[in-house]
Amino acid sequence: MLKVTKFGGSSMADAGQYRKVRSILEADPARKVVIVSAAGKRDKKDHKITDLLYLTYAHTQYGVDYSRIFDMIYDRHIQIRDDLGVDLNMERELKDIRVRLDEKSISQDELVSRGEYLSAKLMAAFLDFEFVDAADWIRFNLDGSVDRETSYELLRRRVGKKGIVIPGFYGVMPDGHIRTFSRGGSDITGALAAAALDADVYENWTDVSGILMADPRIVENPQAIPQVTYDELRELSYSGAQVLHEGTIFPVREKNIPVNIRNTNAPMDPGTMIQESFDSPIDPDRFITGITGKKNFSIISMSKRGMSNEVGVLRKLLTVLERHNISIDYAPNGIDNVSVVMPTESIEPCLYQILDEIKRDVNPDTLDVHDQIAVVAAVGRHMAYRPGISGKIFAALGKAGINIRMINQGPDELNIIFGVDNKDFEAAIRVLYNSFAK
Ligand code: ASP
Repeated sequence: MLKVTKFGGSSMADAGQYRKVRSILEADPARKVVIVSAAGKRDKKDHKITDLLYLTYAHTQYGVDYSRIFDMIYDRHIQIRDDLGVDLNMERELKDIRVRLDEKSISQDELVSRGEYLSAKLMAAFLDFEFVDAADWIRFNLDGSVDRETSYELLRRRVGKKGIVIPGFYGVMPDGHIRTFSRGGSDITGALAAAALDADVYENWTDVSGILMADPRIVENPQAIPQVTYDELRELSYSGAQVLHEGTIFPVREKNIPVNIRNTNAPMDPGTMIQESFDSPIDPDRFITGITGKKNFSIISMSKRGMSNEVGVLRKLLTVLERHNISIDYAPNGIDNVSVVMPTESIEPCLYQILDEIKRDVNPDTLDVHDQIAVVAAVGRHMAYRPGISGKIFAALGKAGINIRMINQGPDELNIIFGVDNKDFEAAIRVLYNSFAK
């Protein structure tokens, strides 16, 4: 049995958190492979080490003195080491980075990757595990994708009987230069390690007890989702939930490795299990797995009499958007009308030009734009082939006086998506949660 474990920034924030990580690992001898993030915030006002590293690099670019920021990075690591009482020459590691900064011989990617590197060095010394550098096994292709075959093979060769600690977030380009994933990318390192080693489970340890059914800033104390499929997770993340880095799922899904999201601060909570499928539902009456959404969408709607019989209208409309490189999120349609929905931010700079081109190329009878629209998604695999679900959802919203501006359902019936005015966004999510998720 092998469990690959990844600990996020809040689990690495100070010595107390390191100790919690150690007890979690000691509780299960299968937890032999550990991936770590850079130290995160100890409280709301604190800074993430990765942010401080980016800031340091920006200072070097503008020739501004970065000593104060670098000292914060320096002190933080020395303090964790001293509080843990481990024997490790952190001063030398940190001074090496400082020298390279002063010489301007360190790239931005390499500099920001040092947060994970230093965390992993500290954690390996604290646990008495072996430190395995991500630079020794994660290989990028020139196009920025990961060469999975080579990387997996390199990691397999490095693993022995002893536990290992790997820094998240980075690997190397074919020429040996360090390259990072995008922000939050330590999740991907963990997924790659799990896939390389054919782990039985990939445990992703955070500071919440799993993926929540709704945003806790909107719904008070939402429950965690016990089980979610990869497909549902994709729907939830696409529609707004911030869960795992989007590159995470692919390597583990390919190998059918379940992902378990857990809470370092509440290790007894079972968290959320993410798998391809589940045998039977925990609660057969519950049809919504999670509720999510985003604000600030725009809807361009056009109508044209006889449109349903005319070939190519939709293509012409989409071609205009394609010309402006606009990706649309939804395209609900009626018989003689169609709308396209996309984030306002993406369409704002070229809106009038787009409207002009639609008039010219499609010649609609009416053309309107509505903004301040929020999109809400109710996601759940148990909604499929079950009559009456959307009726229940819309009845609940109607009773609460929420006007629905758009409705869309994916062909796999994994979600019901609807648009409401921005001002009704939070209320809509609360109505759904209180009616169907509690
Ligand atoms: N430390 C990096 C970040 O803050 C990567 C990670 O934590 O996953 O984005």
